Amino acid sequence: MNGSIEVICGPMFSGKTEELIRRVRRAQIARQQVQIFKPKIDNRYHETHVVSHSAQEIPSTPVKDSLEILEKIYDTTRVVAIDEVQFFDASILKVLDKLARRGMRVICAGLDQDYASKPFGIMGELLAVADQVTKIQAICTVCGEPATKTYRKSLENSDQILVGEKDLYEARCRAHYDFVENKDDLLSFNVLKSIRPEYEAKN
Ligand code: ADP
Ligand code: MG
Repeated sequence: MNGSIEVICGPMFSGKTEELIRRVRRAQIARQQVQIFKPKIDNRYHETHVVSHSAQEIPSTPVKDSLEILEKIYDTTRVVAIDEVQFFDASILKVLDKLARRGMRVICAGLDQDYASKPFGIMGELLAVADQVTKIQAICTVCGEPATKTYRKSLENSDQILVGEKDLYEARCRAHYDFVENKDDLLSFNVLKSIRPEYEAKN
């Protein structure tokens, strides 16, 4: 079997974990040996299980880093599933490639963007090298339209990694996502117009 890397991405509450669990269950129905991993940092719901916001769950192996995945993988494993992949450091890219080259089907789920709408950690590169990408949307908590952003309700803490739930985060559409890191960015159109008057004419 040819190996491959699949990525399921989107904001919080978009159903990434549900979709990961769905793919894992189908592989199990096909009697393929599956191993499921998650980073130790994510113990919001359960120490060892991967759990969705809709309370679906499957047992998993929590790992402290990507090397531990290599240490724990069996040669007979056909499918490797990893949830919350955005929390791993850059060496996860080599590890995933190695597993896919060994012929394994690698399925990862993770946040594509952080609360500041920036690519989350290694996700930009992972999305670029993946064989298949599924980007899914949540529902905006303000208007009910499809949501692609994760809104952090309090900006007291500006660390990229701040593990939380509905207490800290909401899914929002672009129109209702109002995080602006640098207020000057808001003025950038005006700046452009002052430097290049013809810009205004065209736009
Ligand atoms: P993710 O892993 O992307 O955070 P989950 O798979 O854990 O998402 O959960 C998806 C489920 O979350 C949905 O099926 C729904 O029951 C629930 N949910 C709660 N809030 C929202 C929201 N704003 N938009 C969509 N689904 C939501
Ligand atoms: Mg999830």
